[in-house]
Amino acid sequence: MKSEDLFKEAKNYLPGGVDSPVRAIKPYPFFAIKGEGPRLFDVDGNSYLDYCLAYGPLVLGHAYPPVMEAVSKQLSMGTAYGVPTENEIKLAKEVVRRVPCAEMVRFVNSGTEATMSAIRLARAVTGKSKIVKFEGAYHGAHDYVLVKSGSGAFGLPDSPGVPEETTKNTLLVPFNDEEAITSLVGKEKEELAAIILEPVMGNVGCIPPKKGFLEFLRKITAENNIILIFDEVITGFRIAEGGAQEYFGVTPDLVTFGKILGGGFPIGALAGKREFMERIAPAGDVYQAGTFNGNPISITAGLETMKHLDKDFYQAMNVKGLEMRRGLENILEDASLNYPVAGLSSMFQIYFTDNEVWDYSQAKSADTEKFNSYFQTLLGSGVFIPPSQFECCFLSQAHSSEDIQKTLEAMEKGIKTL
Ligand SMILES: *Cc1c(COP(=O)(O)O)cnc(C)c1O
Repeated sequence: MKSEDLFKEAKNYLPGGVDSPVRAIKPYPFFAIKGEGPRLFDVDGNSYLDYCLAYGPLVLGHAYPPVMEAVSKQLSMGTAYGVPTENEIKLAKEVVRRVPCAEMVRFVNSGTEATMSAIRLARAVTGKSKIVKFEGAYHGAHDYVLVKSGSGAFGLPDSPGVPEETTKNTLLVPFNDEEAITSLVGKEKEELAAIILEPVMGNVGCIPPKKGFLEFLRKITAENNIILIFDEVITGFRIAEGGAQEYFGVTPDLVTFGKILGGGFPIGALAGKREFMERIAPAGDVYQAGTFNGNPISITAGLETMKHLDKDFYQAMNVKGLEMRRGLENILEDASLNYPVAGLSSMFQIYFTDNEVWDYSQAKSADTEKFNSYFQTLLGSGVFIPPSQFECCFLSQAHSSEDIQKTLEAMEKGIKTL
């Protein structure tokens, strides 16, 4: 069956025909059959250079042979044990070696579980209930954080089914706004358990922190007994060996991971200072558990992936990212357009607006019809980027300079036909 028919069929059995909202590409999504290196293949016989990369995890490209081999070996020995494995220690050690704030790690199954557990821990440690999140930030799909959230929920009203009693403890501020935070902390510090943020907002496109902003958050949280949580589900292992905290030189109290850490398999993790982490059960009293926590397949894939993410890797990714962003800037300049090209390291996005973009409200000023037309032209030219203005595009190790040049040609077409 072709994608169009599969989608019709899917809608009878899966709400909206998909298992996660952003995948419902209009008029219908292409159904994948295979991924290989930088390319994704569909059931209709097309192939695409892939800059979605499963929304971030595939930093080595699709089906990277060493990871596939390690996983095959593990598969033949079983898939879940319900008892610990040595590889969990090895991967935890690797996280601790790389990540400045990480002294201990708890592995879970998704980024969603990681942020939920981190917030619970921060509340337990401080004995306070309220948290601060930034408008447009996405920390997964659980109730504590589903307020003015980015990603698939972008632009939708907050979800029905989330009780007001839950979200009244989630306070919102604009990203990069020191004044708003100072004023909020002044009022609420007796009740504030945590500030949680994506150090680079990757679920409203790509918004970096202003210079000094992360340092400011570090200082104001430390002074007021508030836990600083970096949600590095995207930036972790993508922008530096030790993630955003290494890249920007600011160390939070707790960090959450997902995506890349699982080497293409489902995973999440929570890490941080020992004094906090030892509050987690069974070392401490803060409950956290999961049937598939530390799953041997995900752990093996993550462990093998980490072997390939060294300093040289990040240098090479920085070069690829620059090539892409410079190329885009040149195209826009030739077309006399002022759209900002956002990104750092291997992350990038164009905003179809004449404004600078430092927060959610500025991101929202982008022209999503222009974005959709650009997206469709790219797709027609064999280039797949995430189908929303408010997602981030990613590069992988597998994308060659030639691939990038081909992509830039398609992007030029996409921008000029607007
Ligand atoms: C993807 C993402 C999550 C959620 O991770 P899942 O594994 O999809 O639950 C949380 N935070 C950020 C920053 C993300 O990008």
